[in-house]
Amino acid sequence: MEYISRSNIAKMVGSTLVNASATDKCKKIISWSWEMLGSILIMMGSPISVKGLDFDDECKDKITAKKTEKEFTLVLDLDETLIHSDMERTSFLDEEILVKIGNTIEKYYVKIRPFARDFLKALSNYFELVIFTAAIKEYADKVIDYLDPSGFIKRRFYRDSCTKKDGVFYKDLTKVNSNLDKTFIIDNSLSGMSLNPQNGILIKSWYKDLKDQELKIYEAMLKKNVKPKDNIVKSISQMKRKYPKNVLN
Ligand SMILES: [Mg+2]
Repeated sequence: MEYISRSNIAKMVGSTLVNASATDKCKKIISWSWEMLGSILIMMGSPISVKGLDFDDECKDKITAKKTEKEFTLVLDLDETLIHSDMERTSFLDEEILVKIGNTIEKYYVKIRPFARDFLKALSNYFELVIFTAAIKEYADKVIDYLDPSGFIKRRFYRDSCTKKDGVFYKDLTKVNSNLDKTFIIDNSLSGMSLNPQNGILIKSWYKDLKDQELKIYEAMLKKNVKPKDNIVKSISQMKRKYPKNVLN
């Protein structure tokens, strides 16, 4: 449904009512009134449904998304932040993932970082969770599907969304959310966050330490230090001062 401007109404009235009967004129005017009311409700983001209004699917999606939106968007890197993978099998990398790239199928062996699934589940209650990886879509989708079978991760950004310069892939967070007061990234790589350094929290790269507790620590830290209506840049700055011995700096 398109929003109806005054000029559009004038055009509709001019073109369709001139030769209409009195009854048809009344029907048309009632129909337009319903449409205008519907447009106003949609513009207000109202979840109210009005019998007789025909919201198309796109409008319904917008309304539903607005109802479930979280205030903050937490962007997560994938490799060495939430998982580690390699093309060589070891006893440690125990999950085999087949990735189809063009006409070839490549095998990757994957291990999930300790607490990663708990981290996603817990923080999905507070933040909209997004993956932003420099990996290609074919690989990343398979890994994310394995990592997050419950679907706590709501959106995915791949290598083709990165900004490439001198062979390095940078992540521009404004592609995820234009409001950088409410968006932040956790990444094991400084280059991943160097376009928006004030919105970045570094985490130790993870390869195989099964006693690693970083995600558990970060979960507790974020729950404690990010409050509703915060400016996330200020919150991160405060966390960096508060936890000087952590890897945040
Ligand atoms: Mg990484």
